Amino acid sequence: MTNIMQNGASAKNSAMGANTSPILEARNLRKLFPVSGGSFFGKPNTVKALEDFSVSLKPGYTTALVGESGSGKTTAARILAGMYQATSGEILFNGVSSKNISGGLQSRNYHQHVQLIFQDPFASLNVAHSIRYHLARPLQIYHKARNKTELEQEILALLQRVSLTPAEQFIQKLPHELSGGQRQRVAIARALAPKPSVLLADEPVSMLDVSIRLDILNLLTRLKDEENLALLYITHDIASARYFADTILVMYAGQSIESGPSETLIKDPKHPYTQLLLSAAPDPARNSAAPISGKGEAPSLINPPTGCRFHPRCPFAKDICRTGFPKRTEIQKDHWVNCFLYTDELETVSSNIPAHAPSK
Ligand code: SF4
Repeated sequence: MTNIMQNGASAKNSAMGANTSPILEARNLRKLFPVSGGSFFGKPNTVKALEDFSVSLKPGYTTALVGESGSGKTTAARILAGMYQATSGEILFNGVSSKNISGGLQSRNYHQHVQLIFQDPFASLNVAHSIRYHLARPLQIYHKARNKTELEQEILALLQRVSLTPAEQFIQKLPHELSGGQRQRVAIARALAPKPSVLLADEPVSMLDVSIRLDILNLLTRLKDEENLALLYITHDIASARYFADTILVMYAGQSIESGPSETLIKDPKHPYTQLLLSAAPDPARNSAAPISGKGEAPSLINPPTGCRFHPRCPFAKDICRTGFPKRTEIQKDHWVNCFLYTDELETVSSNIPAHAPSK
């Protein structure tokens, strides 16, 4: 796995961003979900699922959105897919604000170009319908076949593109006749049917056997390269993100906290939470980072910690971390972090940073 994927991602990393405009951008997204029946000091409860989230997806590149459960990854993907409406912020497709897209993010035109692959291949297919039906529907909805013969040819071609061969044998099958990996290939084929520009893959392998995860991730990478797709790979597994993504964006409790080219971020993580994730995911190919302990669990998003939401778990937390969220600090080109350890503000509070704190 290391050799196959590391080479592809590294080659892209070296030229990251050069002459490539984003096809899909999110700027400063915020998402609050109302909670029925609850209140906090008289104010209705809300789940603060996403705060100031920005991401930029480019054709031919993979961006990994990494974080533990409840970090806001799926909420971000669903907003990008047009399934949720952001409370505030902006989304641009091909440089055009969603406010100016005819019909907005709920329009058929937008859905044609931005497709979401769900985590659970068992729930995402209707058990009552054949594979032919699942693939024919998007082809018909998006007018990708002019007649029955073309429809059949397109379905067979989709099955071949996701390596379900001989395609003629799979077309008649029902979902329960397929393995988990085969079902996820059908879900990927269905997402490809409208000829999208962007694939949002929400934990696409987490419900599959370990033995077939690599095959599915390699398939997504091949399709991304062959069809110049912008791929968002959502995962809690930072080790796999290193091999399959050009860029990694780390999230914690609804806040984006660090991003950079995959190799750079893995070898030189700056944010204490990124270091915690890496220390929990041993990787023999990585230079050993200083181990870090982060006691506790991810916080409730109904009443999250003030300031930096990681402060109750952070061994380096200072008073300022409890009151304000740190501004973004550029460590080097394309590598940034939100942490007071890398801003001037900390120096006004204390210079007593522990000896094992990450180096600036
Ligand atoms: Fe820790 Fe403060 Fe940095 Fe948050 S801002 S990660 S609490 S040092």
